[in-house]
Amino acid sequence: MGSEPRSAQSDRLFVFPACCFSPPIGILTDVTTTLLDPISNGTHAETSPSQKRVLLLKPRGFCAGVVRAIDVVKIALETFGAPIYVRREIVHNSYVVNELAEKGAIFVHEIDDVPDGQRVIYSAHGVSPAVREISRERHLRVIDATCPLVTKVHIEAVKFARQGYSLVLIGHRDHDEIEGTLGEAPEATQVVSNVAEVAALEVPDPNRVAYLTQTTLSLDEARDIIHALKLKFPNIIGPHTQDICYATENRQVAVRNVAHDAQLVLVVGSTNSSNSNRLVEVSRNLATIGYLIDNSQAIDPVWLDGVSTVAVTAGASAPEVLVEGVVNYLRQNGFSSVEEVEVMPENVRFGLPSEIVQAIGSADGAEALPVK
Ligand code: SF4
Repeated sequence: MGSEPRSAQSDRLFVFPACCFSPPIGILTDVTTTLLDPISNGTHAETSPSQKRVLLLKPRGFCAGVVRAIDVVKIALETFGAPIYVRREIVHNSYVVNELAEKGAIFVHEIDDVPDGQRVIYSAHGVSPAVREISRERHLRVIDATCPLVTKVHIEAVKFARQGYSLVLIGHRDHDEIEGTLGEAPEATQVVSNVAEVAALEVPDPNRVAYLTQTTLSLDEARDIIHALKLKFPNIIGPHTQDICYATENRQVAVRNVAHDAQLVLVVGSTNSSNSNRLVEVSRNLATIGYLIDNSQAIDPVWLDGVSTVAVTAGASAPEVLVEGVVNYLRQNGFSSVEEVEVMPENVRFGLPSEIVQAIGSADGAEALPVK
């Protein structure tokens, strides 16, 4: 699976308003940062053998799509006032969802649960055309917080289907994103989740098959599935650039480069967060014990027995405040050295949806959004 050059993935710049509500990464204090060269596998700062340490991976936590989606809900609440309905979890993190619910957001599972004519926000994972149609019929006022990188996959699905390709969508059937993408071309699309399922695929024309992937897959697993697809359908084609997003890739690469230096990897994220689960898998595939934890209270003290180095990272939907809680817990339990290991720079921002930009622009007393 071809990857974009690192610089292209790290520095993609989009318009973003100055009123960024979500806290940036790096609110922890007393943390030294080391730049790790992922090619040479460079080493970290020296600590004495007896000193227990935390390796805090960077990049970690919020991606551009999550920052955008959370800001959309917060700005909508401030601009329009409650009630603001949100279809599904805006991002897959219970802390974020609870915080927004406290501010007045009403989370619903299906679009039918939104009263006629009300304002509804689509989550970062996207929706199918069927959901959009119901929203139109019910005169809902829609704000679309779908991540632009998910929208990219939707557009590819439509394009391939219109060109007459059978579509293989690699991903997890029960994930909101797959439900939305599948809905773009349901007759032409089959979902596969692992290599074994590739063998069972049947298509009308084996020479006219295309594949797409969920944005938050394991790089290794996706590579193996695509390899199996290419063996079965030698003329299969894929997206112009890979669908696994920059944030998913960067966080996996960071774990891959540091897990060998730790006896334990703690991934902050919720159990329904696909990219967070993949980070645990990356660690375990490298024979380093890894656990997914919602917050510091989920740490079992037994995990730390005999451990001198813990690597800490966070999925793309996990807020930094939870990482801070985990690091503070580790400090209180003897891990006195905290070193931030930056595997690659990441500076991606997405512009807000036009519905939000227009609403802010026309709101009384609102300042025009600065455009960089
Ligand atoms: Fe977008 Fe990737 Fe973040 Fe998902 S994980 S919201 S696809 S940037």
